[in-house]
Amino acid sequence: MSSYTKVELEALLDGKMPWDKVQEIIKNPKDTTRFEDVVNIFQERVKFKEKILLPLTPKLFIVQKGKERVIKCCCSHEYGDYRVNWKLYSNVYVRDTQESLDEVYPGSHSLDPRNAQIREYYCPGCASQLEVEALPRGVPADFEFLPDLDTFYHHWLGKVLPEEFEHVDKTGEVLKHWAK
Ligand SMILES: [Zn+2]
Repeated sequence: MSSYTKVELEALLDGKMPWDKVQEIIKNPKDTTRFEDVVNIFQERVKFKEKILLPLTPKLFIVQKGKERVIKCCCSHEYGDYRVNWKLYSNVYVRDTQESLDEVYPGSHSLDPRNAQIREYYCPGCASQLEVEALPRGVPADFEFLPDLDTFYHHWLGKVLPEEFEHVDKTGEVLKHWAK
């Protein structure tokens, strides 16, 4: 049984919880149903029916779709295999001129477009901004998080997912295929 109510967890997820309460939750030993409680809150909010296996961000989720595990936006736009960086399938706005960089980091925080660029990733389905990263020119998109879902479910939740998947980054395979 979770020691926090659904209303409290929702406030935490939405950034509406008072800071002293947030600290209390962070410091407390985690209760076993917290993960499921959080997933259930997201599941009620999203526009798709597939079961959420893991929230990646407040808007992106790994879901069980038949025998596959795919990434979906809350709007239900699909990004494909969870082992491929979803950013490859998003709309990207690149700030690589002084003027566009200064809109984000003006004045003394200014970035030099010869060294840095800012990439903003948007969902093709709902136009939500999903991620922003500042990287040197030419560096591939950062693949922030490739979770070992089978290990997580087995060891932390005591559950087994329908099918085991090889825990490996597949992004390179897609890029190789595109390069042909
Ligand atoms: Zn979307």
